[in-house]
Amino acid sequence: MHYKTDYHIHTTYSDGKASPEEYIEPAIAAGISEIGFSEHLALFKDNQDWVMNPQNVGTYLAYLDNLKSKTDKLIIRKGLEVDYLEGKEYETGVFLDGFDLDYRIGSVHYLGERTVDEGPDFYTGKNFDRLFESYFEMVCNAVASGLFDIIGHCDLIRIFGYKPSFDPGPFYHKLAKTMKQYDVAFEINTNGRNRPMADFYPDRRFLRYFSEKKVPVCVNSDAHMPARVGQYFDEAYRLLKDNGFTEMVAFSSRERRFISF
Ligand SMILES: [Zn+2]
Ligand SMILES: [Zn+2]
Repeated sequence: MHYKTDYHIHTTYSDGKASPEEYIEPAIAAGISEIGFSEHLALFKDNQDWVMNPQNVGTYLAYLDNLKSKTDKLIIRKGLEVDYLEGKEYETGVFLDGFDLDYRIGSVHYLGERTVDEGPDFYTGKNFDRLFESYFEMVCNAVASGLFDIIGHCDLIRIFGYKPSFDPGPFYHKLAKTMKQYDVAFEINTNGRNRPMADFYPDRRFLRYFSEKKVPVCVNSDAHMPARVGQYFDEAYRLLKDNGFTEMVAFSSRERRFISF
């Protein structure tokens, strides 16, 4: 059986539906060897109910340390899913350097003051081609910021099934090149299957670009409820293999190791 890690999990510390310990048994049942929690953090954005209050990061990590000390059936990793905010790179880095994390997921949810996954209304009256370009530009900037170990759902802009009028291939090609240049991993995020566009992130048609550049990869569920931990992972591993990947990356104290398929 494949060694499975799932590093993208949300609990009631942000917008997940269950506490960290409620994920442990389902993760074991799903064959996960390393589970990593990654609460949402959007520094410098006020009044957002889907993210953790930055003041609670210490409490959250202490809670995970305690859970780790009581759990021996699988490895618990400590992470955060941090919004990339342009112009706030320095402050974000200073904040994150204050914590002992196994990895940092960097994600783009915001385009302007609203998030691209809040609902289809976000797209009403907007030019999707421009949104698509802006989204990829932001993700490339997140990669180049050097703040993150993994980029979360790198094409979240697909969430509601809208498609650009042009061939998006060159955007994925540039993203893969940038990830290689800055040595940042991407994830197959299986939660896209549960969203309106009903497929994994990123677009499977372009995975070959990432494998050709040897961009490190992990498979993550982005589970917001215990039933979804490790969901669709066997299919995701198969997809990676079919696209030429031979290994995936695991994290501990922001150090990487590679696990062969
Ligand atoms: Zn996210
Ligand atoms: Zn997430």
